[in-house]
Amino acid sequence: MYDIAIIGAGPAGSTLARLLAPNYRVLLVEKRNLIEPNQAGAGNKCCGGLLAPDAQKVLGMMSLALPQEVLVGPQIFVVRTIDLQKKQERYYQRFYINLDRTKFDCWLFSLIPPSVNVRSATLCKEIRKEEGYYTLRLKFRQKYYCEQARLVIGADGAASIVRKTFFPEDPKLLVYSAVQEWFAVKKPSPYFSVFFDSELMDFYGWSIPKEESLLVGAALKPRYNTAERFKQLKAKLSAYGYPLYAAKKREGAFILRPRRATRAVADLPGVALIGEAAGWISPSSAEGFSYAFRSALTAAKCLEPGIEGFVKRYQQETAALRRNIFAKNLKLPFMYHPLLRRIIMELGIAAVEVCSDMPVT
Ligand SMILES: Cc1cc2nc3c(=O)[nH]c(=O)nc-3n(C[C@H](O)[C@H](O)[C@H](O)COP(=O)(O)OP(=O)(O)OC[C@H]3O[C@@H](n4cnc5c(N)ncnc54)[C@H](O)[C@@H]3O)c2cc1C
Repeated sequence: MYDIAIIGAGPAGSTLARLLAPNYRVLLVEKRNLIEPNQAGAGNKCCGGLLAPDAQKVLGMMSLALPQEVLVGPQIFVVRTIDLQKKQERYYQRFYINLDRTKFDCWLFSLIPPSVNVRSATLCKEIRKEEGYYTLRLKFRQKYYCEQARLVIGADGAASIVRKTFFPEDPKLLVYSAVQEWFAVKKPSPYFSVFFDSELMDFYGWSIPKEESLLVGAALKPRYNTAERFKQLKAKLSAYGYPLYAAKKREGAFILRPRRATRAVADLPGVALIGEAAGWISPSSAEGFSYAFRSALTAAKCLEPGIEGFVKRYQQETAALRRNIFAKNLKLPFMYHPLLRRIIMELGIAAVEVCSDMPVT
């Protein structure tokens, strides 16, 4: 019997596993193969891979510095913002770090101490409540087996099985389909670009340079002709000089958008969520790394005195995260209401001028 089972070794799960005291018996289950990520079927996480200042700050607070091998060129200094309907364009200074997402996850995973029992390439298929503990049904190489734990922490991202099993559906936790395509480019673009178009989407689209590739993506409402809308977005972007010919690679993922602070502890004792599984991701920018780190850090602190009373402590200590989600929601109209956005872009508040003879993408 384990004390704690963590489902998912993304930024949230790996961070929590790294921070837990060695006297706990900890099981970490991850469906991707993060030990040999180049193996066929290892599975990359579909992501923009930009580390925002908030996430940089938490890494610093945890005394972590990024190793060179997780960085990917170019490093970007401005965000090109385009309102495709109004044909308005502005540039804003931003301080992101451009990452290789798979290498970033593998690096965080490599920091987990040997005291944690890690099951990579293992899928958690089912979690059952028993008398005073939980049974996990796991699948590794077509074989099924079970493990038991007193406390289950869901760090399993947007499509969390822990959330689906133990939490009621929350209509304010919106689920979007994110689509990304990778295009070959001769010269890397100097911008991270974001696109708004309220006819096609109520969230946003983006392009991010990654070495010899340009990654183009969008977060779209599922079941609303996602493929057709993404096609229309690309057609509009071609007019701005984006070289979107044959995509080298296409990927997709769910992404959550919390329209209010969501619950991270279940009614049942011994179940909690961290990271995006808890609905902790910015509803305005979809930035999720800082929330993954902060919630993992909070969970680890709340587990220091023991498992007894953890759920209550965690609920209290995550109040700041919930306030943060609330505040981000207040900001939404200034980014997503077409009229307010137009006014802000027209006024050029906080915008920077770029040389007009620069490459467009
Ligand atoms: C297209 C896209 C672009 C994004 N771009 C950015 C960005 O540039 N910057 C940023 O800060 N955020 C970005 N985000 C958000 C960010 O990826 C997430 O918020 C962040 O990864 C959350 O970390 P996490 O550890 O909570 O969840 P995840 O990173 O989703 O990790 C969950 C882990 O659980 C594993 N898992 C899931 N289910 C199971 C199961 N049943 N059994 C075993 N393992 C399981 C998964 O394989 C995964 O490794 C983006 C999201 C998307 C979809």
